[in-house]
Amino acid sequence: MSVVLIIGGGAAGMAAAIAAAGCGHEVRLYEKNEKPGKKLFITGKGRCNVTNACDMDSMMKNVVTNPRFLYSSFSGFTNRDMMDLLERNGCPLKIERGDRVFPVSDKSSDVIRALVKQMKDLGVKIYLNTPAAGLRVEDGCCRGILLGTGRRESGFSGGSRVSFVPGDAVIVATGGLSYGTTGSTGDGYKFAEDCGHTVTSLHPSLVPMNALEADVKELQGLSLRNIEAVITDGRKELFREFGELLFTHFGVSGPVILSASSFVAGILQKQPLSLTIDLKPALTQEQLDARLLRDFKEFSNKQFKNSLSRLYPAKMIPVMIARSGISPDKPVCEITREERLRLAEATRRFKVTLTGLRGYNEAVITQGGVSVGEVNPATMESKKVKGLYFAGEVLDLDAVTGGFNLQIAWSTGWAAGSGIPYV
Ligand SMILES: Cc1cc2nc3c(=O)[nH]c(=O)nc-3n(C[C@H](O)[C@H](O)[C@H](O)COP(=O)(O)OP(=O)(O)OC[C@H]3O[C@@H](n4cnc5c(N)ncnc54)[C@H](O)[C@@H]3O)c2cc1C
Repeated sequence: MSVVLIIGGGAAGMAAAIAAAGCGHEVRLYEKNEKPGKKLFITGKGRCNVTNACDMDSMMKNVVTNPRFLYSSFSGFTNRDMMDLLERNGCPLKIERGDRVFPVSDKSSDVIRALVKQMKDLGVKIYLNTPAAGLRVEDGCCRGILLGTGRRESGFSGGSRVSFVPGDAVIVATGGLSYGTTGSTGDGYKFAEDCGHTVTSLHPSLVPMNALEADVKELQGLSLRNIEAVITDGRKELFREFGELLFTHFGVSGPVILSASSFVAGILQKQPLSLTIDLKPALTQEQLDARLLRDFKEFSNKQFKNSLSRLYPAKMIPVMIARSGISPDKPVCEITREERLRLAEATRRFKVTLTGLRGYNEAVITQGGVSVGEVNPATMESKKVKGLYFAGEVLDLDAVTGGFNLQIAWSTGWAAGSGIPYV
């Protein structure tokens, strides 16, 4: 039996605790909040999209950063394993659109309750309101953790408020930087760097974006379904997807934009990017022109501004009129072919300049983290420090929405907890 110390009582930390205790180790879990799973509680808008019921191939395809690193842990502890674990502990699940898995009760608290029950049944000791301040590493081995509000080991000046807890293995499952009020304040990155690990460049992801144009902000609150969004850096296409987009007071959000951020966040932090929205992607150029001709024929006695209600949502009409450059009062029967083509162009290519990402407090995840090249993918053990393990969002791993990010936390947590040798 080994003494296993886990820092962080989020998804990854709890999965690690259950796996390690199930292997017969003595497990102590340290959580700085007054309760475990504070972020889990707000996931899936309070319903917790626990995982995705797709096959493992699709699971890998939905991972954006370092999918191959997850091959071993995804197979070792699958989405089905996680679903079984929750159902065995009194949290029945259901599968919704897109294979998204939720508790039948639609309450994330039931997921947390099931995990806490399983930890308690297995004898995991949970220490709440107990922040870890650092790790102690000697001779290339992790010897334990420092608790308390004092400084980290590297800068520790002997203050009396830090105590040392020895252990045979330490699992760092401190999460990322997003929604810091849930406790994810990036402590694990510092712990890792202090031990000589590389932390790759960090940025918010699955996050809305700021836009430059004032007319985009006028559209705030408007949600558009079935659009196509294309993002380029002016030369190269970086992202293209059909779906739903939401205009906000600062720019753009909604599923398509959150997905896009997974692929362009790093670049957008350095330079503005161009978003082109096709408002009618189901129509060819000719079909769109025919559609405009038909509407204009029907409304031929009206003013231009009163002829667009079938084509665009009401909020969008003034913006489209301005972008088309056609006078709003012009009689429809006087609109020229050139003007009609300009309107079609504005419809096909609604241009938005993306100027940056919103912050971590609006980001679902943090992209970047402890470099996976320095971690054993089967056990999550550090290749630099013996007895030190990483799990969950603290690692340089992330996926699109749909339950995939939590599956990363469950699978890597499980791999870490079950990879610890007996001493
Ligand atoms: C609003 C929102 C909705 C989301 N919805 C979904 C969803 O429905 N499905 C999905 O798959 N993913 C979702 N995610 C992403 C998902 O929540 C994360 O991927 C997942 O929680 C990561 O798990 P983790 O255990 O690595 O980190 P966390 O869940 O962040 O847990 C880390 C824990 O470590 C603790 N901690 C940190 N530092 C210390 C320290 N020094 N000492 C002690 N404890 C410490 C923290 O307090 C925290 O409890 C959502 C995220 C957000 C922000």
